[in-house]
Amino acid sequence: ATEYSSLFTFFGGTGDLAKRKLYPSLFKLYVRGNLGEHFAVIGTARDSWSDDQFREVVTQSIREDQPDADMHAASVFVTHFYYLAHDVTDKAHYAVMKDLVEKLDEQYSLKGNRIFYLSMAPRFFGEVALNLKSEGLLSEDGSNRLVIEKPFGTDFTTAETLNEQLSGAFEEKQIYRIDHYLGKEMVQNIQALRFGNTLVESLWNNRYIDNVQVTLSEKLGVEDRAGYYDTAGALRDMVQNHIMQIVSQLAMEQPVSFTDSDVRVEKIKALRSLRVYSPAEAAKNFIRGQYGANDTEPAYRDEPNVPKDSANDTFVAGKLLFDNYRWSGVPFYVRTGKRLADKFTRIDVVFKKPLIDIFAFPQNRDNSLAPNVLTIYVEPNSGFSLQLNAKTAGQGFETEPIHLDFQQDVAQKEETPEPYERLLHDTLKGDQTNFASWDEVSYAWKFVDVIQKLWDSETPDFPNYVSGSMGPAASDELLQRDHRSWIYRL
Ligand code: NAD
Repeated sequence: ATEYSSLFTFFGGTGDLAKRKLYPSLFKLYVRGNLGEHFAVIGTARDSWSDDQFREVVTQSIREDQPDADMHAASVFVTHFYYLAHDVTDKAHYAVMKDLVEKLDEQYSLKGNRIFYLSMAPRFFGEVALNLKSEGLLSEDGSNRLVIEKPFGTDFTTAETLNEQLSGAFEEKQIYRIDHYLGKEMVQNIQALRFGNTLVESLWNNRYIDNVQVTLSEKLGVEDRAGYYDTAGALRDMVQNHIMQIVSQLAMEQPVSFTDSDVRVEKIKALRSLRVYSPAEAAKNFIRGQYGANDTEPAYRDEPNVPKDSANDTFVAGKLLFDNYRWSGVPFYVRTGKRLADKFTRIDVVFKKPLIDIFAFPQNRDNSLAPNVLTIYVEPNSGFSLQLNAKTAGQGFETEPIHLDFQQDVAQKEETPEPYERLLHDTLKGDQTNFASWDEVSYAWKFVDVIQKLWDSETPDFPNYVSGSMGPAASDELLQRDHRSWIYRL
């Protein structure tokens, strides 16, 4: 494994994400040999913790995440961790952080390589970035990288303002916008599947594909995140980022090479050809939902901290159209929601049926060919499935759909890094392939803004789907109108 040297500074270092994901992922990189002697970590937040307390928390989060972890290795690992109480709005105090940063740089021979990870409320992102620059925390000799968590704004305008602030301190090639779906094995596998297989890529267009379906289904409700979620909704929380990222990888042209800059160019091109709807088109092509109660679960409006008359969307389904040579006429149907039947993410690529079903003549008029469907299972299990038609065994000549299945086995699963581990590794490497660029974010917002604005102007009739279902009837109707149906249904 390549060993990297860098200082990590985690803002929001006492927070939920840092404890649950970031520290355990960093430890995995350490165990794999990507971090050796030359790394150090500063955790910072307003809480007044000591280094020892911090190290104890990090140890605990490793133990919880990896019950079989080598705790001796963990005890050496945590000696690289330092805590600094710091309010990010206190400009004068950045001098104290600067001293610590420079001291650790020297002590661990970090060569000025710095990763600043903002794992805190987005309203602080701009201010922190600007302070890091103005107060001299960016190194002159090594690399400076800024990692930020979603949401990147709440619409195009706020995203643009944030981006202008970030750009005041960091260049685009130094900004790593996390979209953890891009860290998932099977999302990354889309590229291998498409560009590594003649069989797939030669059929990957509107001559052979009838429609594409992307489903991000969650089983849980809003849990304790109502404060944030009720102001965001499924469209902003899931479609603007994760779904748009997945769709752009499915739709993009082949990059010149498999490097971050070449891949970005193609994703941006794909998003530029995504048809931005008029309000009337948005009304026709996007539908929303909110979950109601079932026998065991409460309605969204009865969840803690949700207003009784909330018009927030916990479900969205829509149809996306790309106006380019490859995809003209092929709808990309997407859906996501909370409190659905199950927790999974899958992509179904539905191929056109043969123009003539020769097996339906003349004795078997009832024979019907199923479409070929290539399913990419993103989670919980990673795999592919290809639906083909084959002859039913026996006399006569009927056909039936069969499935060629590939599922990652246990050993492969163990080898698969967690999204955050992979994305931290990419950040160390300086590889932006699996991060969202500003152009991608901005095109996605422009698309989503029209729909959100329309929805904000109308009062929906909520709740409109039962917890444990696959969403409102309107989601099925969206496809029925086009004489199609969801491949995954209950
Ligand atoms: P959190 O509320 O648990 O943690 C926030 C942290 O910020 C705490 O350490 C707090 O002390 C610190 N903080 C608050 N005000 C501060 C100030 N003025 N100065 C310095 N520190 C301050 O939040 P979280 O759940 O860890 O989320 C962090 C970020 O990650 C957010 O942007 C969130 O949207 C994003 N995110 C979180 C998750 C998750 O699973 N928790 C998932 C995806 C994205």
